[in-house]
Amino acid sequence: MSYSNWEKALKQLEVKPSKLKKFVKHNSPKNRTFGIAVRRCMLCGRIGGHIRSYNLHLCRQCFRLNAKKMGFKKYS
Ligand SMILES: [Zn+2]
Repeated sequence: MSYSNWEKALKQLEVKPSKLKKFVKHNSPKNRTFGIAVRRCMLCGRIGGHIRSYNLHLCRQCFRLNAKKMGFKKYS
């Protein structure tokens, strides 16, 4: 199961409706009000390596891919 999007696992269970119901009941993520999982990357949904500065709300991987387009310049 991918952490970025838990619904990816549902695709396999579409042919087994009763198993799908059970899976959703026991594995759907909670609605968080605080903690690390509240802040997710806006592009890919990762929770690790989150960048909040400059109001970016991207993970480090997405930031690396899109930094040049956003106007960041690498000095080193
Ligand atoms: Zn990302």
